[in-house]
Amino acid sequence: MTENIGGEVFVRIIPLPMRVGAVVLPNDDGTYDVYISSHLDQKQREQKLAHELRHVAGQHFYRELDVTVAEDEANAEKAPPRRGRKER
Ligand SMILES: [Zn+2]
Repeated sequence: MTENIGGEVFVRIIPLPMRVGAVVLPNDDGTYDVYISSHLDQKQREQKLAHELRHVAGQHFYRELDVTVAEDEANAEKAPPRRGRKER
């Protein structure tokens, strides 16, 4: 991660439903809350955090993007990506 994400991101490890690995929510003040599932191991948590931070860096909340495009961008190693995996 070398992108300047341009805002504070607060990361919390909490229990989430098993099918949810992580979520990121924009706040009105320009900061973000990232919630990572406590069910994940450390490596998975780091991967999920990197994924969610790419949503932040890609400004996915403020662009009109098809969700599959946003997910492809977040799953790519750096933006702008080529078409990639469809993992969520
Ligand atoms: Zn995503």
